[in-house]
Amino acid sequence: MADMPAYRSVSLLIDGAWSPAASGRTLSVVNPATGEPIGTVAHAGIDDLDRALAAAEKGLAAWRKVSPLERARVLNGAARLLRERSEDIAIQMVLEQGKMIGEARGEVERAAEACDWMAGEAQRVYGRVIPGRAGNITNLVLREPVGIVAAFTPWNFPVNQIVRKVAGALAAGCSLVVKGPEEAPGSCAELVRAFVDAGAPAGSVNLVYGTPAEISEYLVPHPLVRKISFTGSTVVGKHLAALAGKHMKLTTMELGGHAPVLVFRDADPVATARALVGNKFRNAGQSCVNPTRFLIEGDAYEPFAATFIEAAAALKPGGGLDPATTTGPLANIRRVEAMERLTADALEKGARLRTGGKRIGNAGFFFEPTVFTDVPTSAALMNEEPFGPIAMINRFDDREAAYAEANRLPYGLSAYAFTTSSLTAKEVIEKVESAMISFNHFGLGHPETPFGGMKDSGYGFEGGSEAIEPYLQTRFMTMADL
Ligand code: NAD
Repeated sequence: MADMPAYRSVSLLIDGAWSPAASGRTLSVVNPATGEPIGTVAHAGIDDLDRALAAAEKGLAAWRKVSPLERARVLNGAARLLRERSEDIAIQMVLEQGKMIGEARGEVERAAEACDWMAGEAQRVYGRVIPGRAGNITNLVLREPVGIVAAFTPWNFPVNQIVRKVAGALAAGCSLVVKGPEEAPGSCAELVRAFVDAGAPAGSVNLVYGTPAEISEYLVPHPLVRKISFTGSTVVGKHLAALAGKHMKLTTMELGGHAPVLVFRDADPVATARALVGNKFRNAGQSCVNPTRFLIEGDAYEPFAATFIEAAAALKPGGGLDPATTTGPLANIRRVEAMERLTADALEKGARLRTGGKRIGNAGFFFEPTVFTDVPTSAALMNEEPFGPIAMINRFDDREAAYAEANRLPYGLSAYAFTTSSLTAKEVIEKVESAMISFNHFGLGHPETPFGGMKDSGYGFEGGSEAIEPYLQTRFMTMADL
């Protein structure tokens, strides 16, 4: 691939300076479209984490004194730089993560929107005055930055996962040590660079990479760290939440999902199937809000399944920079192996494979867009977050059974429903246990709307007016005039 754009190797950002790890250690970054190494990322050790924490302490002291108006200017400045640098950041993201260039550009634009949104929120943090019980009493509620935040962000949306945490924390006046994704470190570093170049003071945001468990075991219990924000799998989230609990740290946990999609008989099955194929295979299915368990009512089932299968089979897997591509590779070999395991298990359990089901070639991490129908709940796919390009379509005739299936798993992140009946929609809201429900479109994840889960999908929200809350400490002060 002679005309492949260059990938830039990635350093740590500590105290406003980009530098290698103290040990000089690096990890390899691989292009998922080719399977070839394209660069390196610095691997932080404990020395580097100590330096990052000292910088965050200094950064917090400086940044919390900056007025909300000025913080907003920095956040708006970062948004402007992200838009100016969008093409470069998007290309770095495609090279390291594999998604299609159009998706990568959209992700950078959404990150800019998140910065603009949080710039507004920075200026809307209000305390309050509570009337005293006597005329000489003043009661004040203060809202202050919570302190140093340790944030852990994954590889599936290398820019969008980190921006929510960095913009939220900076808007509130906190400083951060972020552990970015080792598999896709470059676009994440460019996001952080935009904040630095827009005027975030040295130490207010620090960025490290390394061995995830080593970094979290050190940062979570560390006395300087007040708040943990993690996006990733439920298994790791539960582990970190337990560790944080032991040390009385505040936490936000944005974890896995296994989204049910209820298509009722009054919805147009063909139009719905066409729309859902795009959402299902976006980012090769590697999204926590990815639609996974398609439950189709009665007569709508056959036309829905036929249209969905045909559209999935027509997708063109390929490199994200190739304009002919309509779905990219998986981000790493672990996901390909998981798809192979889940497919073999589903076949063994009696599911019907309707298209796809195999790895494509042996260069890069491609897996065919895959659709199963008639999938028994004993199949691992129906229980484990697929996090890849596999859709499962089943028919239902009894609505109560469909709601029971939607709620069968311990997840509660996102659910989708398609219906023209407001009565049905109300029933779905009442019966389906999911923190986010999207009716008749795919409407989740905007900066101005809350994003988060319930049950095993975690707690705390990113996005909306809720997004700044996790980074604020409430204090109460009461004073009597003498
Ligand atoms: P994984 O569980 O090893 O890692 C998931 C994420 O957690 C990665 O970003 C990783 O760096 C981080 N991580 C892992 N162990 C950690 C630790 N001890 N301390 C701090 N961070 C840690 O799995 P993976 O192979 O990278 O991804 C597989 C699964 O992770 C997927 O099937 C999916 O369920 C989940 N995942 C979820 C999201 C999301 O958006 N919620 C994103 C990426 C991965």
